[in-house]
Amino acid sequence: MTAPGTPSNPLRVAIVGSGPAAFYAAEYLLKQPDLTVQVDMLERLPTPYGLVRGGVAPDHQKIKTVIRIYEGVAKLPGFRFFGNVEYGCHVTLEDLDAHFHQVLIATGAQTDRRIGVPGEDLAGIHSATEFVAWYNAHPDFRDRRFDLTRENAAIIGVGNVAIDVARILLLPHAVRASTDMADHAIGALETSGVRHVTMIGRRGPAQAAFTNLELKELGEDIDGDVVVRADELELDPESAAEVEKGGRIAKEKMDVLRAYAAKPRSGNDRALEIRFFLSPVEFRGDASGHVTSLVLEKNELARGEDGAIVCRGTGVTEEIPVGLAFRSVGYKGVALAGVPFDAKRGVVPNEKGRVLSAPGGEVVRGLYATGWIKRGPSGVIGTNKADSVETAKQMLEDRAAERVLAPRAPDAAAFAALVAERQPRAVVYADWQRLDQLETERGVAASRPRIKFCSVEDMLSALAKASSAERSPS
Ligand code: NAP
Repeated sequence: MTAPGTPSNPLRVAIVGSGPAAFYAAEYLLKQPDLTVQVDMLERLPTPYGLVRGGVAPDHQKIKTVIRIYEGVAKLPGFRFFGNVEYGCHVTLEDLDAHFHQVLIATGAQTDRRIGVPGEDLAGIHSATEFVAWYNAHPDFRDRRFDLTRENAAIIGVGNVAIDVARILLLPHAVRASTDMADHAIGALETSGVRHVTMIGRRGPAQAAFTNLELKELGEDIDGDVVVRADELELDPESAAEVEKGGRIAKEKMDVLRAYAAKPRSGNDRALEIRFFLSPVEFRGDASGHVTSLVLEKNELARGEDGAIVCRGTGVTEEIPVGLAFRSVGYKGVALAGVPFDAKRGVVPNEKGRVLSAPGGEVVRGLYATGWIKRGPSGVIGTNKADSVETAKQMLEDRAAERVLAPRAPDAAAFAALVAERQPRAVVYADWQRLDQLETERGVAASRPRIKFCSVEDMLSALAKASSAERSPS
């Protein structure tokens, strides 16, 4: 057998997922000179781009311009998109093994981590991930309900997702209404009674996961004050050394926080308060089972066994009123049928992207991972480029060494026929382009970037309507 990659025997790659990591891998593979590669990208939704569409905040449209790169990838010869096709439902790993030389898992981290404290299941407590998916019009989350009548909200965690949630809760309505936020979220947030949001970090400001730009923006964007307690910015010697080592970026973060702490209240009773050195220990509720308060334990910092700065409870507690709470303590990957999974880390075990049978186990031939399902939920969109290039390089190395799968039906038509049989309502990239155009057109009259379709049914019927209108003589 000769290695696939020639015009008569193209290297056939299936990519499961269509977020940034998927597109960067496709780009690297399809742009190989002297190699003929075909990439079939499978996506559960009719819409591509993963968290760029469903995660990036609607008031951060500039970040979404990265989509132009992915549109360029979709134009490359050999690229095909199969939307509304669910791995594990319409196609299995066996199906992919029968049609492709290599299978790349790029499904991201689709769920969230729990905190593990009493009362976490009370009404009014949600994961940040579901709130983000709800306001970004993810079809699976459109029916979620958030009780926005409560005055006090809490967000556990001080990462960029926590900042997004806080900002969205406190943005002026006119700003929210000018974005591509889901209409149901714009409507619900317009009458929101939330006036005080507390973001809670278990370690200190020096260890906060948010980034400077996002932190600075809060002060400019929200309708309300950003409140920080000066005493919670005092650094122990270890943290001070960490800031020193972190250089300009770490120092700037402290400066921004100190500027917030020094700023007198403006008179606006709406506020985002950022607290540090506090861990949630219990949510308390009323007789109806709705959260009413959060008990926090004051922490001090110490060196963990691995040398990292960790927090330790002091036994001193405080209770704050909370009628709505979000845990924003990180996303978590979900296992895929037939694919090895490290449940502890929520990732597919791998070595530079080559999937292993178990952590530290054998390489599984022909199976690869990239993005958050490979490394865990860290980094910004661009981080996925280097990550996907690393995986794609292993794939190309394995191709050259002929360590690929031996598919029974390695031709593009056979796989398209299989998809058509299993999911007659599959969509192709041109369908997505049509949807994209329809959403954008809907936004024009309202001076919004787009008005998103919020359900798969709405997307499919809009496509059907558009194609029958195109067919009918005018
Ligand atoms: P993250 O950056 O990992 O932050 C998670 C936060 O949760 C940290 O503050 C962490 O504290 C805290 N936490 C974890 N377990 C906890 C527990 N049991 N109790 C209390 N706190 C706990 O995760 P993320 O905010 O979900 O963001 C994911 C990635 O997406 C990040 O790389 C982020 O930068 C990126 N992102 C970027 C943007 C943007 O660029 N605008 C927007 C959104 C997301 P410890 O540090 O103490 O563990």
